Amino acid sequence: MTGGSRVSGATRVAAVLGWPVAHSRSPAMQNAAFAALGLDWVYVALPVAPGDLAQALAGARCLGLAGLNLTVPHKVAALPLLDALEPAAARIGAVNTVLVTPQGLVGANTDGAGWTRSFVQEHGPVPGSVTLIGAGGAARAVAFAAVEAGATLRIAARDPQRAQALARDLCATSPGATVEARGLDRPLWSPDEGAPGLVVQATSIGMGAAPGSDAWRSAQAAWDALLPPEPCPGTVFSDLVYTPRQTALLAAGALRGARGHEGLGMLVHQGAIALERWTGRAAPVTVMREALIEALGAEPPTY
Ligand code: NDP
Repeated sequence: MTGGSRVSGATRVAAVLGWPVAHSRSPAMQNAAFAALGLDWVYVALPVAPGDLAQALAGARCLGLAGLNLTVPHKVAALPLLDALEPAAARIGAVNTVLVTPQGLVGANTDGAGWTRSFVQEHGPVPGSVTLIGAGGAARAVAFAAVEAGATLRIAARDPQRAQALARDLCATSPGATVEARGLDRPLWSPDEGAPGLVVQATSIGMGAAPGSDAWRSAQAAWDALLPPEPCPGTVFSDLVYTPRQTALLAAGALRGARGHEGLGMLVHQGAIALERWTGRAAPVTVMREALIEALGAEPPTY
């Protein structure tokens, strides 16, 4: 069995539910992994309209699906529809992976752990001071992961109240955490403070912005306003946006002598952890990464 090329009566089915979902690169990545592991499994993308999620999850229970991923717009809507939530999913307030267990459907979130695994693999331990841009779902996943790694966190979001709400949630779960929340109305750090060890970009700024395009220039202008011009060679810039792989933020970091961490790594590792949870096997990360790069290259960048 090679990732769906010989589907049999015994083939196990995993799926991603989204709306729309035809653009998803997860099938390419997961089917390549199943093939590499010699598993008689197949992974498909199923379009599920927003109002149909409860029925789709009930269907997943009855059909004996082996595992699910959830993507936009279902990650938050699924919370009350599952039989149980793992602590990470409950803390983050979003589910990207569903485990099918004898006790029912369990919501998990592998985004934060996927980001950490990718970062540690490429750059070593998470630095002690982290500035996080954004306060949406992916930002929440990384925020909990960074605090768990012991970092001091500055959250900067265009809606400061959203940043404050995230800071409160972080301090409620990790009472010793040092977290500051603020808006995006001024540079992310002052020359006196100096640059943090890590800047994580978790908004959709720059998504689908090809180098040289108007969208790229607008992202570049946003970063010029937020990033002090001084060199910061000790800083890593981590952009969760993975299309294009080299974003305007990573370019702005490189101009300042900083190292970059591409969003592709998180995408690979959140999928790898999901696969490991469903199958109990170690994920073939290199195969998954190569399949994803090929799939991303084959299609226009429309997340
Ligand atoms: P959400 O919609 O949950 O959050 C988006 C965040 O971006 C919000 O905080 C929003 O602010 C902010 N935002 C959007 N546009 C702007 C702007 N022009 N200026 C300032 N802030 C802005 O999305 P996700 O958290 O799910 O995704 C965020 C990004 O992370 C996306 O680009 C997505 O592709 C990427 N991602 C990457 C993953 C990976 O594996 N690499 C995994 C998941 C996501 P507001 O609240 O004010 O609207």
